[in-house]
Amino acid sequence: MHDWPKTSTTPEDRFKNTDSFEPEFWKKKSLSELSKEEWEQLCDGCGKCCLNKIDIRGRVRFTNVRCRFLNPETGLCQIYEHRFEKVSDCRDIDLNTVLTEPEILPKTCAYRLLAEGEELPSWHPLVTKNADSVHQADMSVKGRPLVSETEVSDYENNIVDWSDV
Ligand code: SF4
Ligand code: SF4
Repeated sequence: MHDWPKTSTTPEDRFKNTDSFEPEFWKKKSLSELSKEEWEQLCDGCGKCCLNKIDIRGRVRFTNVRCRFLNPETGLCQIYEHRFEKVSDCRDIDLNTVLTEPEILPKTCAYRLLAEGEELPSWHPLVTKNADSVHQADMSVKGRPLVSETEVSDYENNIVDWSDV
């Protein structure tokens, strides 16, 4: 068991200050122009980037094997402030990652969508002003048949064929 503090961030917390941001800032700025706070706010909290992936003949495939620190009920990391310190292969979803390795992100990821010239989906919490809308639209990990990486080692048998990854 780990003994470092869990993040206090909840889905409700993440979007409670939406009104402090410029309305629809994601339509007015490019990804490279976003402030750190705006960048963080774009994350819909789906949790799908915290699923383990494997490369099959040059194609990144998602599995239903979750990072042991991903809360499958909220889609949030339980050690967010300490994630790079505690998990060596935890990826920083920054602009460079989005532009050079979009395939490690699900098709619904807000960063990937905007980088590809698409709009935010209607269920995105920034659009709905409701942190739960990502779950209500079945776009998050919540309710999916996940297993923890502490319980399986054979990822090939856990590849998923979900349409949104
Ligand atoms: S896939 Fe994208 S939107 Fe979803 S949790 Fe990860 S960074 Fe956020
Ligand atoms: S440690 Fe990284 S991969 Fe694991 S749940 Fe947290 S953000 Fe996701």
